[in-house]
Amino acid sequence: MSRKSITCTGKVSKTPLTEYESEAEALEGAQFAFVRYGQRNVPYRCKQCGLWHLSPANRQTPSSTCGVCQGQDGRPKASYASQQDAERRAEILQREQGLQLRAYPCDYGGWHLTKG
Ligand SMILES: [Zn+2]
Ligand SMILES: [Zn+2]
Repeated sequence: MSRKSITCTGKVSKTPLTEYESEAEALEGAQFAFVRYGQRNVPYRCKQCGLWHLSPANRQTPSSTCGVCQGQDGRPKASYASQQDAERRAEILQREQGLQLRAYPCDYGGWHLTKG
């Protein structure tokens, strides 16, 4: 069983998140969403309400790679369609990996992230 949270809303969707009592329940919900909608979701424990919600596994913003620019590791840089996409990605990376990144427009179209 699941219900809509009254405390938590999705950052992107702005609609109430579905809440689950346990991880097992959330996993079931994730499985359901995958079968029904083909969406991959991962359960996480919410710090705000202490219950479980689902987060899209592909919440990384859509990106492609730049055909021109390379990162320091020599691999093509990820390219984002808009500044907003790039900044959203930067936020996730900061939260998850503590990276300080900022978005800048690529000379060849799209947006990249760079350190500092
Ligand atoms: Zn919550
Ligand atoms: Zn580029």
